[in-house]
Order: sequence, then C-alpha cells, then structure tokens
Amino acid sequence: MLAAASSEDDGYSRPGHEADAIPTDCPTVSAMPSFDQPDPSTSQEHAGEPADLDPGWSVDTAVVHLGRPPRSPGAPLNMPIEPASSYHAGGDLEYARDGTRASLALESAIGTLEGGHCLAFSSGMAAASALLDTVPPGAIVVAPRHAYTGVSVRMRSLADRGRIELRTVDVTDTAAVSVASRGAHLVWIESPTNPMLEIADIPAIAALAHEQGASVVCDNTFATPLGQQPLAHGADVVLHSATKMIGGHSDLLAGALVFADADAAQQMLPERTLLGGFPGALESFLALRGLRTLALRRTRAESSAIHLAQLLRDHPAIERVRYPGLEDDPGFALCQATMSGPGTIIAIEPRGGIAAAEAISHRVRLWVHATSLGGVESLLERRRRWALESTLVPESLIRLSVGIEDPEDLWADLSAALDQP
Ligand code: PLP
Repeated sequence: MLAAASSEDDGYSRPGHEADAIPTDCPTVSAMPSFDQPDPSTSQEHAGEPADLDPGWSVDTAVVHLGRPPRSPGAPLNMPIEPASSYHAGGDLEYARDGTRASLALESAIGTLEGGHCLAFSSGMAAASALLDTVPPGAIVVAPRHAYTGVSVRMRSLADRGRIELRTVDVTDTAAVSVASRGAHLVWIESPTNPMLEIADIPAIAALAHEQGASVVCDNTFATPLGQQPLAHGADVVLHSATKMIGGHSDLLAGALVFADADAAQQMLPERTLLGGFPGALESFLALRGLRTLALRRTRAESSAIHLAQLLRDHPAIERVRYPGLEDDPGFALCQATMSGPGTIIAIEPRGGIAAAEAISHRVRLWVHATSLGGVESLLERRRRWALESTLVPESLIRLSVGIEDPEDLWADLSAALDQP
C-alpha cells in the first residue's frame, strides 16, 4: 500500500495512493546511464523510458530506493557527486546543461512519485519561468489570486509587458475558474496556496479547463508527491520547488516539472537547455538525499502541524488559523477528498495586527524567524514583510512551516511568544 505515511481511518481518500499507484510507465533507475554500460542514446532521450519498479512497494519504501545507481558489484549505492561540465565525446552524456547522471536520477525519482515524466531545474522559479516561456505570445493564463509571490510577480511582469494576458481567480471558486478559463491556454493552480492555504478542486478544474482546450499546471510544492497526486486528478503538469519539502534541509535550491505526457516533457528539454536553469551536481545529490526521508519527515511534521493548528485555534491571542486539516477550515472537505493529509504549513493571524505579528516573530527562540518552508527546522515569518507579497494577504498573517522537532517544544516556544503582553 502507498498510504503508509498516515493511518487509514482518518478520513483522507488518498487518490493515487492506492495499492497499484506506483506508475509503471515512468523513467526509473534502469533508464539512467550506468557507470559500466554506457547508454547509446543521448541524455535527452531518457524522459519517458519504462520502469522496473515493483508496484507492490509502499511509497515510503519507494522514496528510499528511487533514483539509485543500478545494483552491480562495486557500484556506489548513491549517485556520486560528479563536478563535471563536460564529458568525453561520444557517450550518453556530453554537456552538463543537457543532463547529468545525478539530474537524471532525481528526475527518475520525482517522475515516478508523481506518475509522470520529470525534468529537473535549478529552482522552482526556473521551472515556473521555463513553463511560462513556452506559452504563446498573447495567450491567456489563468492564475490563482494567492500564489507564491515569485510566480505571481513573474506572471504580472509578463502581463505588463504584453507577453501574456493574465486572469487571476480565486482557485477555491471553481465556477469563477470556469468562466476565466474560456479561451485560456494555461490554467495555473497552486493547492494548497501559499500562504493562504486554500484548496482547489483539481479534478473539477482539470476537467473544465480541458473542455476549454487549456492545459493545467499544479504547483504541488506544499503537498509534496506524497500528499497529493495532481496528474492522477487530471492536471497536465506538476511543478515543484524541490528547495522545500523534497530537499527538506534548507540547504539547496532545485525545482521540477513533471509532465503527464512524455512528448510534452521531450518538447520542454531543449527549452530547459537553452534557458539554462539546470540543477548543479551537488544540488541534485542533496535533493535526492533529502527525498530519502521525505515520508518520515512529512509524517512527523504533518502530525505536529495538526496538533499545533488545533492548539492555535483555541488560543486567545489568535484571531484566525488557516489550515486545511481543521474541520472548520473552508478547505477541509476537499483536502480530505483529494489529499492524503493537510500538510505541514499553517497560517495564523494574531490579534493585534502587524505589531503583534512582528513581536511574535522576534520573540520565538526555537522557531526560526526566516523565509522559506519545508525544512527539518520549524520556520515562521510575517509574509507581508515582503514588499512584493500580494496585498490580498492579511498584513498580520504569519506563515508557519512545521519541522520535525518535538511538537511539545514547538508549542512551548510558540505559546510563550503568544502569551507575552
Ligand atoms: N512554488 C511555491 C509554492 C513556493 O513556495 C516557492 C518558493 O517559495 C516556489 C514555487 C519557488 O521555488 P524556488 O524558491 O525553489 O525558486
């Protein structure tokens, strides 16, 4: 079973996480250039090769073993870090901007987990920018009103320059997405959204977008491939900032696009090569190493997040908690229907506005006051401290990224910060 990360009786449906959910048509370890048997094909031809994964494996097992070198005597267990920009001519690898053994291993692992054909990038933004670059001039792009700031700013800048026509929508309002999707080329979903934790009805949006002839990309960074399977819900492309939960240790930048269609992945390959947003050897290695513990980290952090969200909801210093794992959250029902769990990110609005939020951010001793999310260490920040954050995000909103520390220590630190006058 692929659902081992959470108990079976907690109400979450885990679509795409049923017994046969490890896809068997994705690039895997066997598709990678080996050390002793050079693959005669070019690196570009690796996206979309067949797999040799045992479909009976749990996803928790898969993350430990995906993307490793073939098991042969003397071969390393892990993809070695190869600091090479160029390779001896005539082999399966030529130039590191086209592909490296480590990037292919990372792509094989993430592609298998998402059930598609993965291309790795140097960051989530590089992946997002590459995808936006392929949109035809003047095409209509539907985007969430709340989304990661960098993606929103990039889209706005493309729209301001006349490169795309941008329609921003509330992704929780499927009817509004339907209206906005008329004539669209691309419908961009982020779910849960950053930092408002809104949940989109991915299956419904994918169906209506396809009726309009639009493709659907879903930023799955918050949920991770273990928490949500957008391609199984009908999305065409999944985007990851592997900088976050996949890497998991706040020590790398990486990104990924995972395509449902092998040809679409192949078409993106030259774009990535020419745009140059390719992950380095160390980053690919670290992202793969982080992936090994994704299931463990996520299980721990998610259970702490559920516990903390409940405590925060009942705390008198907190006006509002946004977390799709709370029964009274607007995203609760959809989260249960389409995700394997509510995830590790919480947003809170303390009473007392900006001053209270800033005071809490500076009082914590265990929580780290820093941007980003998805690492082993718990982080928090007031999102509107960033000038470019959407003005639709409440000024006092603090985003909490729950790590793997003892949840009681996390609560003791946070409640001490909340309790101070
Ligand atoms: N998508 C989401 C949801 C994010 O939170 C981020 C970064 O915070 C990105 C994409 C961009 O990723 P990166 O920072 O790796 O470029």
